[in-house]
Amino acid sequence: MKSGAGRDRSITKKWARQTQMVRAGSMRSELGEMSEALFLTSGFAYANAEQAEARFNGSEEGFTYSRQTNPTVSMFEERMAVLEGADIGRATGTGMAAMTASLLAGLKSGDHVLGSRALFGSCRWLMDELLPRYGIETTVIDGTDMEAWKGAVQNNTRAFFTETPANPTLEIVDLKAVADLAHENGAKLIVDNVFATPVLQRPMELGADIVCYSTTKHIDGQGRCLGGVILCDKEWDEEFLYPFYRHTGCAMSPFTAWVMLKGLETMGLRVHAMCDAAEDIALALADRVTDVRHPSLASFGQSELAFSQMDRGGTMVVFELPGGRDQAFRFLNALEIIDISNNLGDSRSIATHPWSTTHKALAEETRLELGITPGLIRLSVGLEDTEDLKDDLLRALEIAGS
Ligand SMILES: *Cc1c(COP(=O)(O)O)cnc(C)c1O
Repeated sequence: MKSGAGRDRSITKKWARQTQMVRAGSMRSELGEMSEALFLTSGFAYANAEQAEARFNGSEEGFTYSRQTNPTVSMFEERMAVLEGADIGRATGTGMAAMTASLLAGLKSGDHVLGSRALFGSCRWLMDELLPRYGIETTVIDGTDMEAWKGAVQNNTRAFFTETPANPTLEIVDLKAVADLAHENGAKLIVDNVFATPVLQRPMELGADIVCYSTTKHIDGQGRCLGGVILCDKEWDEEFLYPFYRHTGCAMSPFTAWVMLKGLETMGLRVHAMCDAAEDIALALADRVTDVRHPSLASFGQSELAFSQMDRGGTMVVFELPGGRDQAFRFLNALEIIDISNNLGDSRSIATHPWSTTHKALAEETRLELGITPGLIRLSVGLEDTEDLKDDLLRALEIAGS
């Protein structure tokens, strides 16, 4: 493999983000392929026993086994690390593998994790069910309330965990203030940056220590592969993440990494086009239903904070139908273009009913406390013609009686 400019950080870090998304991390073999090669191999052979020994004791760089590193996966990890401004990226089989590893790798029994309560459903399960099972204490608070964060810090708090904008309510958490509080207390801030995407928000510039993605969403962006990635500094990777990652086996498949590399090339264009459409759709819906949420709307309570840490309002629009579950179902069933599904960040627009699907595992009072009501619809805006999407939505609202 020839490294080339795509592997040289002193060059790639100077590139604009759009150039990084297309080229950072690339390596070429002696064949000179334009598109990154897919190394679909579980292991690597050595020229002799001495070389095998050298690879294992770390005196020679190179690949040994794809549970640890693989050339295609490594290209994806390097591209993500450069884009995020992180030393290291570790790609995982799913977004949840990334979230789980980012929490478990650095924590032990007796530690405490403080998180915002509006989290992706499975992330809430990690906080509420999994970590306590291993003696790791957890507390979830209203992430929009800085006094609540301050009041819940304990002397054994080792990690803060948050998501902004939150799924599905689009609540905004003040990343800089939360990062400062975490650091004053000797804790790491872990951010699930899925909704914002690396195109719109860079938590590390605001002080986050660890950033995680489900790459299933905007990074693939075409509904094909599950994946995740963890971005962090070299010290935390060496001490905590890499040992956990290589021994527990949460690695991404080379095939998936290849798809994700292709996804990254167009992610900037896709996310901006989806934001354009989301802004337009939010305005059109605001004429017809109350409580439409998108940071670009004047009615969005946290626009100032949102635009202090995000370049744009994002690709998700959330709204509430007053007639509850029945009206929400009538609306979903009347859509002709937009699919009823639970993914997001796809080139195809998707409507979700969080109450009965993605957040169903949470107790009813927890859902209500988070603002997840039976009438709530989460719309992931895709790349179809915006007028077609508005027609589909407005016609379905008409049929649903709104
Ligand atoms: C989808 C998602 C995840 C989980 O990712 P998977 O790839 O489905 O495992 C975690 N956090 C957020 C905010 C998500 O949207």
